[in-house]
Amino acid sequence: MELIVVWVVLGPLVGYAIGKPKGREGYGLLLGLLLGFIGWIIVAVMEPPSGYSNVGALGPRRACPYCAEQIQPAAVVCRYCGADVEPALAVTAKGMPFGWRVTAKDYEHLQKKYPSAVESLLAACAEANYPSFTSGELTSAVTDVDRGRLSPQQAVAKWGR
Ligand SMILES: [Zn+2]
Repeated sequence: MELIVVWVVLGPLVGYAIGKPKGREGYGLLLGLLLGFIGWIIVAVMEPPSGYSNVGALGPRRACPYCAEQIQPAAVVCRYCGADVEPALAVTAKGMPFGWRVTAKDYEHLQKKYPSAVESLLAACAEANYPSFTSGELTSAVTDVDRGRLSPQQAVAKWGR
């Protein structure tokens, strides 16, 4: 009886744990449940689905130029070797800097409507150590720049954080 409980509970759990890092947790659950340790072995040797990247779990990373460990894009000090590093502007698939709390829809809208204001703001962000924006803050900053009320640097200082 205990053996069946262990099989039913442990089989899928271990299978899941083995499959998770390569995006095969579904197979891990199923094969672990049906085949037990044989299922674990199958999942362990399984290739990740094509195009699968484990980047999502940790967010974007870049290599430290000194020790080559993976660090945050916006880091100014390497957490592994302590070296001072230049922060890098990691950009998402939509062309938006990583860490901005702006929806892709809002960003695309602003980019389409105020392309030069968005571009000059991005350049100013690089000078200002990459502050973060919400959708509302970015909209305010972009419209301030577009209407000439603030320079890009002033808008970043006022609305970014
Ligand atoms: Zn380092």
